[in-house]
Amino acid sequence: GDGDALAPLDASKMTITLSTSPRDVPPMNSPEVMAQKTCTDHMVTAAWNETTGWAAPELKPYGPFSIMPSASVLHYATECFEGLKLYRGHDDRLRLFRVNKNCERMRRSCARIALPDFDAKELEKMIIALCARDGPKWLPSDRKGSFLYIRPTMISTDPALGVQRPKEALLYVIIALFPDMSKSLATPAAPPALAGDAQPKKATTGLKLLASTEDTIRAWPGGFGYAKLGANYGPSLVAQGEARARGFDQVLWLFGPEASVTEAGASNFFVVWRNKETGKTELVTAPLQERIILEGVTRASILELARERLAPGKAAGALEGVEVVERKFTMADVLAAHEEGRLVEAFAAGTAFFVAPVGLIHYKGQDVEIPMGAEGESGDYAKVLKGWLGGIMYGKEAHEWGVVV
Ligand code: PMP
Repeated sequence: GDGDALAPLDASKMTITLSTSPRDVPPMNSPEVMAQKTCTDHMVTAAWNETTGWAAPELKPYGPFSIMPSASVLHYATECFEGLKLYRGHDDRLRLFRVNKNCERMRRSCARIALPDFDAKELEKMIIALCARDGPKWLPSDRKGSFLYIRPTMISTDPALGVQRPKEALLYVIIALFPDMSKSLATPAAPPALAGDAQPKKATTGLKLLASTEDTIRAWPGGFGYAKLGANYGPSLVAQGEARARGFDQVLWLFGPEASVTEAGASNFFVVWRNKETGKTELVTAPLQERIILEGVTRASILELARERLAPGKAAGALEGVEVVERKFTMADVLAAHEEGRLVEAFAAGTAFFVAPVGLIHYKGQDVEIPMGAEGESGDYAKVLKGWLGGIMYGKEAHEWGVVV
């Protein structure tokens, strides 16, 4: 009837309970921070159930949850999450980057795993409230040019063991202190294994990627690779661990008998090459249509900036414009471009690693060396795009993508 409409998620109803034991911020180089185990003093939660809808969100001390051992998430992986950063600008302001995109993507992830929908704007307000509370202490003014990592999450807490759509869920947001991994990429991920046939032979300051094999597929058409479900990540850890043990940084996820290039680790993957037929320089990344790629916020932003500021005919300094192409491409295409000297550069792009130049791909027993620019540190396109994005994140450029907290 009219009287029992489900309550929508409503950030204006948020209750606030501050921590009575706020902790000192540990140094960035402390073991707990390096191990990514440190969270800030508070978190935001909002419970949902099928009969009443969303309860009032709560901002409260960070701490353990109590859920039943039968909770749906623990058995059926009814979970999805987001990842974004809070940046301390060079102008001393705190900013989020396109947080609306993360909130909208979270709705799409929820829809794929039978978790409840919500108004993205309300989640955005909850994230901003938490950042405004913990940001000033945990990302102080003396850390300009640094960030905290924000993890919005939804799980089903439904204690019913039956395999069915969950009737209860919990939305929460936590903030972690995160070492800057983009700076540690130059150092080897692990000492090389003693006797491996597939260790990177070449030294490079760029990312070293180990191409996945046919027995480890990250995502497939009709699956859920486009959604940020925990279920996409757990099963990738064996391949990732093996890559690390062999001295590589990340897995390059290939798909299908043609070895389509999809993503790199938890980042989207871009290559710049000269087109064999037209001779034109292209910035290429895998398309979204098959729904096996996560639609990265960084990916979307790079495509938009490249189309706007690096269009053919335009030039950014000495850099010529590019055709921006979202299309399927294979390892054979990459190898051909490499052999014919048309490969310009490659990079991974995502929140965690930001824009990370790729120096090497190991594929079927072969090391494919990727050009890393004149100084051997980064290709020019990666450098320019990283500079533009960083400028917006850290407030050097006023832009609507930078959301001041
Ligand atoms: N692909 C995968 C599989 C990811 O987990 C991520 C990280 N969210 C990305 C790409 C990059 O997305 P974003 O730029 O939004 O961080």
